Amino acid sequence: MSDEREGPSTRAVHGGEPRPKGDFSITPPLVLSSTFTFAKTADLVEYMEGRAARGEEYGRYGNPTRQAAEAKLAALEGAEAACLFASGMAAVTTTLLAMLRSETHVVFTDDCYRKTRQFAEAVLKKLGVACDLVPPRVEAIEAALRPNTRLVFTESPTNPYLSVVDLERLAALARARRIKTVVDSTFATPFNQRPLELGIDLVVHSATKYLGGHNDLLAGAILGGRDLVAGVREFQGMLGGIPDPTSSYLLARGLKTFALRLARQNESGQRIAEFLARHPKVERVHYPGLPGHPDHEVARRQMTGFGGVVSFEIRGGLAEGTRFVDALRIPQIAPSLGGVESLVEQPALMSFYELAPEDRAKIGIKDNLVRFAVGVEDTDDLVRDLEQALHKL
Ligand code: PLP
Repeated sequence: MSDEREGPSTRAVHGGEPRPKGDFSITPPLVLSSTFTFAKTADLVEYMEGRAARGEEYGRYGNPTRQAAEAKLAALEGAEAACLFASGMAAVTTTLLAMLRSETHVVFTDDCYRKTRQFAEAVLKKLGVACDLVPPRVEAIEAALRPNTRLVFTESPTNPYLSVVDLERLAALARARRIKTVVDSTFATPFNQRPLELGIDLVVHSATKYLGGHNDLLAGAILGGRDLVAGVREFQGMLGGIPDPTSSYLLARGLKTFALRLARQNESGQRIAEFLARHPKVERVHYPGLPGHPDHEVARRQMTGFGGVVSFEIRGGLAEGTRFVDALRIPQIAPSLGGVESLVEQPALMSFYELAPEDRAKIGIKDNLVRFAVGVEDTDDLVRDLEQALHKL
């Protein structure tokens, strides 16, 4: 069943699902099998020649539970094809290795997940790929392009400062020069932003976050045109970063409530950002839903909601941030975001812990920065909790 006019909740519940399913079950079955058999050699030959109506022959190339999760994700993102991975980083690294070769150049934007940045430094450069890291603005990206640029890779919104890149302008700029664009849309999800409709070639997600939504799985995904996704899937077959069937099952299950969760997280994110922006103990709030955010106009144009991550600077330094975080009762201290449980972290003490304060400052990670990843608890309770913790400062 599929209808262009369907809303995100209908797509989340029914998208990509055949009717009826095997054994007439309402849920996609969890198929725990590492390999898939052929009744006779003629069936194998038929499969090899692409004439058989069946799935893959070996678990590294595909699995019916994984395929069900991929079909649902493709329906949500409005993509021709999806490919799932063991983690968001497996999706990022496999995609980059598939799309780049030595002597080419790639532009990354600098407020990005630290491991993506490290992969560029530690692996791509070693393989002879030139990498530039520029601020997340179309002008800065354009200025960095070279004749051998093959790819622009950016997050939007970015992690942790929630900058929003004008994706339509970026796509037009890149297309005119035959450069491919990849957008890590983890912070937005297809509920809030649909980069493919704006002309972006490939979308990446850490499905560990909002898509899985329950802090109980790791997975990654890429979505886009059939050929591009097939090219990356080929590489995955060699590199092996595949999702296991159980994670695929949990992902497809978690996606059923995706739209409900995101609607609550958008609402809470906005209210919390507004509350913090008014509070005298908060120096600055980074949230694209606030009119004062530098990318608010772009965000309003290309996003339908602004998500559940609010980054903000506590008046003071690292110690004040720690006092505030330790005084919170509902969110738990942990990396990650997007799940039903609210999480909180000080980036200086989490992803960037081993860096000296001056090195953190160089890459823009301030000591008084707190990242609050809203869950699906009642908004009033979260605001009250923030209020009592700020009161203790
Ligand atoms: N991209 C972004 C924006 C992230 O925030 C993360 C993880 O926090 C990743 C990619 C990596 O995803 P995973 O942890 O699933 O490997």
